[in-house]
Amino acid sequence: MFRVRSIPTYLALLLSLVVGAGCATDQSIRAQATDYHKELEPAVLTDGELRDYLQQLGQRVVASAKELHAQKFGPKSAFKDDSSWMFTNEQFHLVNSSTLNAFTTGGDHAYIYSQLMRECRTEDELAAVVAHEFGHVYARHVHKGSDRQYAVLGGAVLLGAAGYAAGGKEHGKEYAAYGAGLGMIAGNFLAMGFTRDDEAEADKLGFEFYTHAGWDPERFGGFFQQLIDKGFDKTPEAASDHPSLSSRVAAAKQRAAALPATAHEWRKPPIADDARFTALKARAEAVGKTMPNDQSLARAKLLLAAVPSCLVPQESQEQVEARATLEAAQAAEQGDAKQK
Ligand SMILES: [Zn+2]
Repeated sequence: MFRVRSIPTYLALLLSLVVGAGCATDQSIRAQATDYHKELEPAVLTDGELRDYLQQLGQRVVASAKELHAQKFGPKSAFKDDSSWMFTNEQFHLVNSSTLNAFTTGGDHAYIYSQLMRECRTEDELAAVVAHEFGHVYARHVHKGSDRQYAVLGGAVLLGAAGYAAGGKEHGKEYAAYGAGLGMIAGNFLAMGFTRDDEAEADKLGFEFYTHAGWDPERFGGFFQQLIDKGFDKTPEAASDHPSLSSRVAAAKQRAAALPATAHEWRKPPIADDARFTALKARAEAVGKTMPNDQSLARAKLLLAAVPSCLVPQESQEQVEARATLEAAQAAEQGDAKQK
């Protein structure tokens, strides 16, 4: 059956979003994050040992951030409201995904991708990424992004429409495999992402949380250095939403060098020494393989793949394809809605 899908449909969507827009509050962002989590939960590795480990690691970051917050450390956005929820509710989830990424929806949930854990050589590298993600929560970057989204959404939505008109048909069959209602939430995941300044700020905050929590300051930039070594730093900084990986490594080195002489007193042993960390990585891989590959997992994985990267400057083919599929689902459901 032929359906008419037109640009005006998107203008109608845009209008509804703009009318519904307001300043994002802690309450609205947390509620939204809880909704998103329902979509992503099927990809969470529910293994007890992995869950406890990541949560323990996350709590060490959060406890450190809480202490720094009491000392009034951080940008204004960290103090614009009662922040106590950040230090009591945050959940860190290890999710089954072959994309190299980590992200947070800004409320009580942060996601570490299994592919990322696999690439970490030591706990320090994983802790640095977790601390960076918590930096986004601490500075309320998702709130900022949500307010910004309404301002730029017109262009994004129109681009989505044009993209669908041009090439949507090839993806038309694919999205159906991910279940009904995908298009309804697709826009939310497509519109996520942080600015370059947000990323730099999350690194800055993350470094402090991480070092005060006892991990090795010299290793904060280790994961980014690994990405450089693997050839991920090709995009010129000016053309990217991300600070270049080399500038992130350089900033971490400068911060480590600028620490007070007493900083060595903060050091603590890692939660998992290198041997245990290697075993946990193997466990994550094994558990991931036992997950039933049903539609809900496929759908969660698709959404996880579509989220912009917090770490890698340019998108992988997997990300580009996931975004195209979501755009097609969104466009098709808009078309259906208009027909009814
Ligand atoms: Zn980030």
